Amino acid sequence: MDAGSWTCWKLCLAMSNCDDAMSNVDLKQSYDVVVIGAGPAGCCTATLLAREGHDVLLIEKETFPRYHVGESLIPETYWPLERLGVIDELKRSDFVKKYSVQFFNQAGNASRPFYFEETNPHESSQTWQVTRADFDLMLMNNARRNGCTVVEGCRVTDVLMEGEAARGVSVRRTGKAEQKIAARVTVDATGIDALLSRKLKIRQPDPRLRKASVYTFYRGAHRESGKDEGATLILNTEGRTGWFWYIPLANDVVSVGVVSSPEELFADGERDRAAILDRQIARCAPIRERLVDATQTGEIRACTDYSWRSTRVAGDGFVLVGDAFGFLDPVYSSGVFLALKSGEMAADAIHDALTLNDVSGEKLGAFGEELYGGMEAFRKVVYAFYTEGFSFGRFLKAYPEYREHVIDLLIGNVFRPGIMDIFDKMAEQVELPVTQTLAETGGT
Ligand SMILES: Cc1cc2nc3c(=O)[nH]c(=O)nc-3n(C[C@H](O)[C@H](O)[C@H](O)COP(=O)(O)OP(=O)(O)OC[C@H]3O[C@@H](n4cnc5c(N)ncnc54)[C@H](O)[C@@H]3O)c2cc1C
Repeated sequence: MDAGSWTCWKLCLAMSNCDDAMSNVDLKQSYDVVVIGAGPAGCCTATLLAREGHDVLLIEKETFPRYHVGESLIPETYWPLERLGVIDELKRSDFVKKYSVQFFNQAGNASRPFYFEETNPHESSQTWQVTRADFDLMLMNNARRNGCTVVEGCRVTDVLMEGEAARGVSVRRTGKAEQKIAARVTVDATGIDALLSRKLKIRQPDPRLRKASVYTFYRGAHRESGKDEGATLILNTEGRTGWFWYIPLANDVVSVGVVSSPEELFADGERDRAAILDRQIARCAPIRERLVDATQTGEIRACTDYSWRSTRVAGDGFVLVGDAFGFLDPVYSSGVFLALKSGEMAADAIHDALTLNDVSGEKLGAFGEELYGGMEAFRKVVYAFYTEGFSFGRFLKAYPEYREHVIDLLIGNVFRPGIMDIFDKMAEQVELPVTQTLAETGGT
């Protein structure tokens, strides 16, 4: 949009808002960038853009701290977190240090732990198991410190479109009238709500990864000692119909969740989450043993309908980041990393676009193929994980020279050249999806 029509658009919004002026004193009529959602993706994008001197509004519907699933980080989150300037804060926190991941097969036998430092003896190979309420609050406070205007308890009800271009948002706060806010660029970071992706109907589910999950916390569960205390455990259930995560958190809390098909979890119309969890725990001996002296605490939550991607990462005046762009099965704990990484890539593209006064979809989406390529690497190992008979142990017995590649995938080093080489060998043992580019999804 040229400068003339941008001014005209802002004037129109100012007129439509004038009745509500008194109730909206906190928010201006327009910003350079409006970011919807203050999860890791939104906070990252907003912080980096504010630091470049752009006028950024970050809008969050909840009031923080708020609960969120997704506690286990992977080592490559270090780099965006370092760029955000929060590594020292993380080092001072009581988040549990994570050095490794370990897999258990359906018979309960454990793989050798994959210690991340094996391929990368750098401090980034130690990561954290975080309580998301505290971690996300830390990122939101950091966004504020870096100059973003942050508004909580404020829901974006719609993205304002002019033809195919986004021009800002409509917001609602308790006790206040609806307000329209103009933005040169609107960033959808709404997580699985995926406001824009749903509105534009550019969301593609992955039918082979149709899963559901039931999860909660326990106190007093078994903990390893030393370096292994913070290991993520991934444990298959009997018959390999599902798997558990076991994530040790601070204050003697462990996050435990089971993932399976909705048909398996909610068999016979079962809706009692405690009963579902108990039935699955009975099918997984190593989880059973770890929970013998434990007490379940807090809500038992459930979610369904995941693993999907959007066919576009950007359009004129808008960008999608984090889960709002795409969500992949959580077995490798890739979600927060991809949220931060896509936030970082998007911030750089948006900064370039604003600097050149060209907020076209082409300019804003310059990072799309790179992001998609990294997600494809994760998607292939997720497919492998769900393939009968596959295990990293078995794969590495046949190809020990690929241990470094496997650890690279587990730490999230999926954007490095040559990472895809491993899949030629893996495809000899399992059926993997054909590599796709974002352009091939047909969304432009
Ligand atoms: C069962 C399960 C287990 C998982 N385990 C892990 C794990 O161990 N490790 C890991 O890295 N990832 C995990 N994930 C994934 C992880 O939770 C997400 O990938 C990550 O939170 C994505 O970050 P985000 O910023 O894109 O979205 P979110 O963190 O979901 O943030 C989106 C924000 O937008 C806000 N919002 C939504 N709509 C609006 C609106 N209309 N207006 C204003 N605000 C809005 C929401 O309140 C929210 O705060 C798991 C996911 C699931 C489902």
